[in-house]
Amino acid sequence: MDDVSQPGPAPDVPVGAASGPTLLVKIFGKDRPGITAGLFDTLAAYGVDVVDIEQVVTRGRMVLCTLVTAPEGGPAAEGGLRATVHNWAESIKMQAEIISGTGDNRPRGTGRSHVTVLGHPLTAESTAAIAARITAVGGNIDRIFRLAKYPVTAVEFAVSGAPTGVLRTALAMEAAHRGVDVAVVAAGLHRRAQRLVVMDVDSTLIQDEVIELFAAHAGCEDQVAEVTAAAMRGELDFEQSLHARVALLAGLDASVVDKVRAEVRLTPGARTLIRTLKRLGFQVGVVSGGFTQVTDDLKERLGLDFASANTLEIVDGRLTGRVTGDVVDRAGKARLLRSFAEQAGVPLSQTVAIGDGANDLDMLNTAGLGVAFNAKPVVRQAADTAVNVPFLDTVLYLLGITREEVEAADLHLDA
Ligand SMILES: [Mg+2]
Repeated sequence: MDDVSQPGPAPDVPVGAASGPTLLVKIFGKDRPGITAGLFDTLAAYGVDVVDIEQVVTRGRMVLCTLVTAPEGGPAAEGGLRATVHNWAESIKMQAEIISGTGDNRPRGTGRSHVTVLGHPLTAESTAAIAARITAVGGNIDRIFRLAKYPVTAVEFAVSGAPTGVLRTALAMEAAHRGVDVAVVAAGLHRRAQRLVVMDVDSTLIQDEVIELFAAHAGCEDQVAEVTAAAMRGELDFEQSLHARVALLAGLDASVVDKVRAEVRLTPGARTLIRTLKRLGFQVGVVSGGFTQVTDDLKERLGLDFASANTLEIVDGRLTGRVTGDVVDRAGKARLLRSFAEQAGVPLSQTVAIGDGANDLDMLNTAGLGVAFNAKPVVRQAADTAVNVPFLDTVLYLLGITREEVEAADLHLDA
């Protein structure tokens, strides 16, 4: 795997140990305990130093690669080492390959990114297309590993040599064409410094549009659904459409609030996402163009840190058809993200926003990472990252958290 030319190693990295002759030793075969210890035991007899090690196990087969300094004593010593390693490998039915060379791995290119690919399923064809696009924009794939096998197949490519923005644009086109989700985020410490996630509610945290649940009780579902759809397509001013829809609820008995709360269906993966984020020390909030009558309940049930929405006015036990206070609209959602970030003491660059509608766009663009979740096309095209599988916990993979880590955390806490 070649890199584009890059500046040399940082000044505090000693280069002497690996600037001379080195040997790449590759061991392949059935994985079982003791292979790593056995290999290095064999190499230890030649007094070599370890420069690098990588090992992967896939369906019980391991590939162990190590780069070591060549032994003192010239070709005779190297010949001895080769024979000993091959004999050892044969004795445990493994294959060995040893390649002579010079120095360490080439330094990785600048413009490092994490490319997360989510497929349901992930086909060989789409994997080939994505890898080819990475190469076409000058990127080099340095590492690949699987993040999750459930509920989607998620793999991460560590890529260097191409600017993150260029890679994102190229891969977004390929992803749309292939029907997979591809998220590209810049590598670096900040990826592990995300500290606040703010989500939209309707059709993001929950599967429903709350106003439509109210409308069903008022018998005006069709009228409300049409206005909602037009607003989400960006064809209507959100505030006007909100007032128009809420007006249709006038006279409804306030007892429907409890019924609607009971009807709300969380999006698959919502609990896993929130539980895992909270364990990792994230603060989690929701902002909604819907209603506090529902979001306050979600906040309590899910242990959220922040929630903000519009409030349905209730007088004498009946909805008046009006909302009270400031309307949470497109600009309001972005403003609330800033406010939550300030309260949480988290810079905006360390925030993640998730939403599906046109009124989420300002919030998605304000956050450090904006994720369009099963979003309308206008939102999908404008966001950093789009997730089109219907599982909210896949957002964890975009943050580099593996399914195994999620499950291990669950086991640990339950034990
Ligand atoms: Mg929504």
